[in-house]
Amino acid sequence: MDKTIGIFGGGQLGRMMAQAALPLNIQCTFFEANTDCPSEILGPVFSTKAENGLQQFINSADVFSLEFENTPLSDVDVLTKSKTLHPPRQALAIAQHRLSEKALFDELDIPVAPYKAVNSLDSLKNAVTVLGLPIVLKTATGGYDGKGQFVLRSEDQIDQAWMELGPAGELVAESFVTFSREVSIIAVRGQNGDVKTWPLAENHHHHGILSHSIVPAPNSADLQPVAQDYITRLLNHLNYIGVLTLELFVTSHGLLANEMAPRVHNSGHWSIEGAVCSQFENHVRAVAGLPLGSTEVVRPTVMVNIIGQYPKTEDVLALEGVHLHLYDKTEREGRKIGHITLMPNDSTKLTTLCRQLAKILPNPLSLSEDMTI
Ligand code: AMP
Repeated sequence: MDKTIGIFGGGQLGRMMAQAALPLNIQCTFFEANTDCPSEILGPVFSTKAENGLQQFINSADVFSLEFENTPLSDVDVLTKSKTLHPPRQALAIAQHRLSEKALFDELDIPVAPYKAVNSLDSLKNAVTVLGLPIVLKTATGGYDGKGQFVLRSEDQIDQAWMELGPAGELVAESFVTFSREVSIIAVRGQNGDVKTWPLAENHHHHGILSHSIVPAPNSADLQPVAQDYITRLLNHLNYIGVLTLELFVTSHGLLANEMAPRVHNSGHWSIEGAVCSQFENHVRAVAGLPLGSTEVVRPTVMVNIIGQYPKTEDVLALEGVHLHLYDKTEREGRKIGHITLMPNDSTKLTTLCRQLAKILPNPLSLSEDMTI
């Protein structure tokens, strides 16, 4: 092996990074609480629970990255005494705190919904007065997939919202955004400062969890350069190395940034088959100091998550123009356990494929039949 990359986390994102690393003769190791994890089959997993786990993990690799956004900064600080982490610690620290993230967006002139920091019942009441209703109240740290959020629609919900989220610590109140669509942009920055961007993904959620992404996001030619400009500002400002994701709302006043993820992202899984070089391979290339690959689209794709329960493999593979990715996770309600990439060669075929897929997927699929690609 030419190099070893140590990855904080051992979930499906780590698994797919290691799958992309293998043909480059790059080995991955992982640091994960549950050693029986999706990445286990691809390299050694060091347990976060073992007494010497962190040190063994640090000794196991040449350079480090992460797939878990809530990687403890205290672990990163131990690591960076002797080894390098890509992306930089600062990007991770900012992404772990919604208020720091918004402050960075403000500093770089990346528009966000009006917001207020909330740390008491009085400051929540003040935020309601200043921002008006409805607002989305979010915990500043620890929230994901819509958890740690309360949509406040009337003043008589203020006490309840405070009771539910107040104990979680610092909060942020945001104006409720009337958006037409949710999109994400993924980009990679190499060690020589090169930046490459994939096309916008249009993201659809079911109960707060990503259900499917359409790439390139339809009717987005005017949005692409704007999103590209925003993410490039972030990458350059942070002197970032690796893949970064920016989630955005499409509104009648243009794009508003929601949040960033300092890692490969579920809305980029399409790129394994749909792009010349996937988000996983380009992340590995960047972390290993190699030249970046083309982010050009091979064919428009729809990526559908498998959530909670597996469909029959034979049924999925019987469909034409489909790739199946299983993460070797046990079935559990609301859990992402695999994904399917649909690569039809026109919109008519997409409609047929979606209809067929909806019949064999155990999780409800809110794919609209008039989807265009
Ligand atoms: P987040 O955890 O910030 O990504 O939020 C999860 C989901 O909640 C987003 O994908 C949106 O669908 C919704 N959401 C978050 N913030 C807002 C907002 N300010 N206005 C309307 N919807 C929001």
